[in-house]
Amino acid sequence: MPATYEVIDPATLDPLGEVPLHQPEDVEAAITAAATVARTWAADREARRTALRQASEAVLAEAEDLGRILSLEQGKVWAEATQEFTVAAGLLRHYADLEWDLVETLPSRGDRSVQVQYAPVGLVGAITPWNFPISLLAVKLAPALVAGCTVIAKPSPSTPMSTRALAEVLNRFLPEHVLQVVTGRGVLSKALSEMPGVRKISFTGSTEIGAAIMAQAAPTVKKVTLELGGNDPAIVLDDADLEFTAARIAGSAFRNAGQVCMAVKRVYVPRAQSAALTEALVEAVSALRIGHGVAEGTTMGPMHTSGQQQLVKDYVARAVAEGGRIAHGGEHGTDLPGYFLEPTIVADAPHHTELVACEQFGAALPVVAYDDLDATVAELNAQEFGLGASVWSPDLERAHEVASQLEVGTAWINQHTVVELDAPFGGWKGSGLGRERGRWGLEEYLEPRTVNARPHAG
Ligand code: NAD
Repeated sequence: MPATYEVIDPATLDPLGEVPLHQPEDVEAAITAAATVARTWAADREARRTALRQASEAVLAEAEDLGRILSLEQGKVWAEATQEFTVAAGLLRHYADLEWDLVETLPSRGDRSVQVQYAPVGLVGAITPWNFPISLLAVKLAPALVAGCTVIAKPSPSTPMSTRALAEVLNRFLPEHVLQVVTGRGVLSKALSEMPGVRKISFTGSTEIGAAIMAQAAPTVKKVTLELGGNDPAIVLDDADLEFTAARIAGSAFRNAGQVCMAVKRVYVPRAQSAALTEALVEAVSALRIGHGVAEGTTMGPMHTSGQQQLVKDYVARAVAEGGRIAHGGEHGTDLPGYFLEPTIVADAPHHTELVACEQFGAALPVVAYDDLDATVAELNAQEFGLGASVWSPDLERAHEVASQLEVGTAWINQHTVVELDAPFGGWKGSGLGRERGRWGLEEYLEPRTVNARPHAG
């Protein structure tokens, strides 16, 4: 039996349970076990599709109980945690049903034939963060499994229980060793990306660790898909309806206590509308009720770690010292001892303060006044993050014109944080490499083999 470590509830700081403290040798054993089943699993696409459909139904049926485990260890509201499992079920079903050619035949050239065959890339290491432990794993698992890959999942050390629970449901329908989970801390992190035998790393997390993974994966030339950090701006145009805009921006910015890679993390608004938009944002966030994720009536939970809570508080304090003003929030806001911060709106935030310029990933939202739209777009494009951005205006033609200039993986108009099953999601520049979702997500797990043939004689 491996040693174990304790998982805590970030709202109450109470212990929730123990999970295995796996070591690199456990990863090595999992790699060996995956190899025993790889060939048979890769051979039968219809069997894989059937297994994924069955797993999808089971996850859906148990979503609420599974969601409670996730809510307790992550902090998010129970209903949102349940939704992660329904999203996972949807992804499993989507990829099970997706039509794709195992073989493409290219136009013939004389007596030669050219075929492109698609084979699974091999063993995948799926490394996930703590903010959406289930939906972000499912967006890797579903295409990887349907492609015929085996998978070893490594969740964040602080959210292992929900990942183990999801795998337990899936493993009722998958052959043994097709999907394995390793949990632990420290030395375990690097094992999947460094060890031979793993052919691909699919990672979601911070830009810093994504860059480290590229380096760790380089000596064994592993393929990588990297979904990394973002610092999404909402760009409000001067003709926007401020009430409509504020309500939707607040809904994106404070979901999961602001710990969403593709949430609105800063708002740019024409100087003349800045005060009115701030007021409308305050009105919108005043409706939020912070508390324990599983408690009735809670609409926003704690932040997930003390480090994250402190970082956001420090950024807010420095934004205020540099000329910003707290228009709402800024306090702990509950008697619970966990990592809480009231939904915090910082008005008149200077453009270069950390709360605006860095990914703050928490329950704070800066409002930045701008004077020149073109200059603002140019400044945003000059930055390293390129995950998403939104444009807000009733004039769709004008909004499309601005959106088409943005150097981002997703440009939203009059909405934010909306993803589709069949459209690619990913980041430009420092926000990532490769794409997830739809056929683009599947292609990340396939290797093309070109078979170029000619007759033996003649
Ligand atoms: P993180 O980068 O600290 O950790 C992510 C995962 O990597 C964890 O499982 C961690 O244990 C593991 N890890 C740590 N060091 C490693 C190493 N050297 N080699 C291999 N794995 C290692 O991220 P986090 O704090 O868990 O999550 C927050 C970050 O994730 C934010 O930056 C956020 O923007 C980003 N994120 C991006 C997306 C996206 O789709 N683009 C989605 C969600 C979160």
